[in-house]
Amino acid sequence: MADTSLMSIPGHVDPVPVPRDVTPRADGRVDLVGLPRGRIAELFAAAGLDAKAAKLRAKQVFHWLYHRGVTEFEAMTDIAKTMRPWLAERFVIGRPEIVLAQHSSDGTRKWLLRTADGHEFEMVFIPDADRGTLCVSSQVGCTLNCRFCHTGTMRLVRNLTPGEIVGQVMLARDALGEWPRGAGDSRPATMAGLDFDEDESDEGHYSADGRLLTNIVMMGMGEPLYNFDNVRDALKIVMDGDGLALSKRRITLSTSGVVPQMARCGEEIGVNLAVSLHAVSKEVRDEIVPINRKYGLDELLQACADYPGASNARRITFEYVMLKDKNDSDADARELVRLLKHYKLPAKVNLIPFNPWPGAIYECSTPERIRRFSEIVFEAGISAPVRTPRGRDIDAACGQLKTAAQKLSRAELDRLADEKQAALG
Ligand code: SAH
Ligand code: SF4
Repeated sequence: MADTSLMSIPGHVDPVPVPRDVTPRADGRVDLVGLPRGRIAELFAAAGLDAKAAKLRAKQVFHWLYHRGVTEFEAMTDIAKTMRPWLAERFVIGRPEIVLAQHSSDGTRKWLLRTADGHEFEMVFIPDADRGTLCVSSQVGCTLNCRFCHTGTMRLVRNLTPGEIVGQVMLARDALGEWPRGAGDSRPATMAGLDFDEDESDEGHYSADGRLLTNIVMMGMGEPLYNFDNVRDALKIVMDGDGLALSKRRITLSTSGVVPQMARCGEEIGVNLAVSLHAVSKEVRDEIVPINRKYGLDELLQACADYPGASNARRITFEYVMLKDKNDSDADARELVRLLKHYKLPAKVNLIPFNPWPGAIYECSTPERIRRFSEIVFEAGISAPVRTPRGRDIDAACGQLKTAAQKLSRAELDRLADEKQAALG
């Protein structure tokens, strides 16, 4: 049994983890993408290498896969020429397949991707003046059904494997031409200014200078804390100094509030936390973020107060989608401030104008309302920027992700919503 992934199946209590092996391929070869060094060494040993050789080769292959981004064993120049075909006969370097790549008029890019077993999901790249953020998916679909979110209208098809999660970051590096050529090599112009770490530390040290992809947010399709093990294993490779080498300070995981997994997220992954709060009363949050019926506001905010690693230097982001006449009054803004202060949270608030999608029952608050809401929070000493919607013309903005293959009828949607609510208890 491989250690690569666990798949959750939505059930009446919490999703039940079921072991999932490496996704099998018809030709019998094993895909190495998503596997840690130790697992690669085990596979090499099982294929016939002695323990010492397996460990050494695994270290080299890990570096080529994740740090240099090669897609063929033939390119692994420090591995003996005769060894490379041996590897290629038994293993593959997989990437999710790109079905469609779209470019927004504002520079945002969206890719529709497909897993080896035919499921589609999306990733989005958002360039800014001083940073470039990759929005990564953790599941195909979502078990939850937040009322304002397009992904929430999809059934959970399955959890993404570590390879499919880390594969998104690798594909983005491919598309942006941002693989380092390695210490000592001349590097492309886009890599100039790269703060390249050559010691054996296990954390990333790339600086933002001159690079396009600088930050990662787990804010694509799915609830990352309902696919905890795979998200953790993928992010460990992303953070590994000899892997994709992105600092944990540049990675943010967004959760709708899966309280029992939040402490583990801080302890075992250590990335920044964003919480999809969206409402300050039980009544409204129960309606728009139904997981609130299971883990209420008090429990959620207490888990935030206890989040390992949170401090004034590393504040927790509270996302708040602005829905007209639903959660956007002055009183809501004041209650938000009161709650954040009551729990003494090192907080910043991110106000997200609602992004519409076909069939959505909400409207976005007016710009004046959003500005007033932001002022109230800001005047209380809490930063509350309004997020500029990006990539709306290609349906790449927050909450618009939903693959065409998954479009369901209204009747199916209603039935699904009932099922999901029953599962939440
Ligand atoms: N499942 C996780 C992460 C993915 S959603 C979560 O819920 O946090 C990423 C963010 O987009 C969340 O804050 C979510 O609430 C927000 N979002 C979803 N639909 C939206 C929409 N239509 N307009 C604006 N933001 C939306
Ligand atoms: Fe799932 Fe997040 Fe969308 Fe809610 S907002 S349905 S948790 S993806």
